[in-house]
Amino acid sequence: MLFDSHVHFDTSRGEYGIKALVERAVAAGVNEMLAVGGSPSLNRHAVAAARLFPHTVRAAIGWDRDQALDGRRTDIARDPQAMLHYWSTRIARCRRIGIQISALGEIGLDYHYAADTASDQRRLLRTQLATARALHLPVIIHTRDADADTIALLVEHAWALQDNTTFLPGVVHCFTGTAEFACRLLALGFFIGLSGIITFANAKTLRETAKTIPTEKLLIETDTPYLAPVPHRGHRNQPSFLPAILQCLAEIRNESAEHLAEIPRANALALFSQKSTNENSVLKGNPHSPFSDLPQGCEMLKDWSPVQNHKRQYRRQ
Ligand SMILES: [Zn+2]
Repeated sequence: MLFDSHVHFDTSRGEYGIKALVERAVAAGVNEMLAVGGSPSLNRHAVAAARLFPHTVRAAIGWDRDQALDGRRTDIARDPQAMLHYWSTRIARCRRIGIQISALGEIGLDYHYAADTASDQRRLLRTQLATARALHLPVIIHTRDADADTIALLVEHAWALQDNTTFLPGVVHCFTGTAEFACRLLALGFFIGLSGIITFANAKTLRETAKTIPTEKLLIETDTPYLAPVPHRGHRNQPSFLPAILQCLAEIRNESAEHLAEIPRANALALFSQKSTNENSVLKGNPHSPFSDLPQGCEMLKDWSPVQNHKRQYRRQ
């Protein structure tokens, strides 16, 4: 059984398209998946998929970096209370139709395509991180060409979370960063989501990094409909291609795919089944401080302190 931790049901074929993708995935052994939002239409598709397949599909909703172009959404991002109100009413609406929202996402920064909206993107991300904390939801983070700012905001997030929670803060999805970036995320308690990019011929460095990520922090994802893995290049990606990513990861790590299969699934269930305030849960003390010891293999960061970095970032602003 496999869990695809990042799927966009970005289909123009509506319910038929969702059904076809989910049925094919289940036939390929991908029995669970997270439908990820990011825009009003992706959010609608994610909720629709969770409603159609309540035992197979969970939903995440949020505003991604592209939404920083939208005046109304950037206005809401200026007011944390308005943002909290916006998402909590939508999450309550989902709950009334029997759908638990499992995470806020995807959210994040992308300076590759839209560096000109960088400050609006940062504000949008920061306000949504505050919302996630208030609702005790994990986050799904996208980052591209923005590692330093992403780390700065996630340190701020982990710092704000550290006192009163056993909370798993979230995942950085479709990871393509350096080993150092991975270590910093791991030190903050984040999971790392690996996509079909690890199967690409030119992803040698990423494969070296993928070897070093502790299994208890690994998630796997297709990022459907993008980035189809080898040997499905040239096709529109879909969750039924997840076994090719697992197989590649198993080869990189010198483990059997059968042995590795259950671990990312268990990690995804732990992350996306956390009790949120939507269910009136009481958060307890934190045995896993986000500023715990660095994970094995992260010795390169021994002189790096997330707290110092946090203060440095504050000084910069
Ligand atoms: Zn995505």
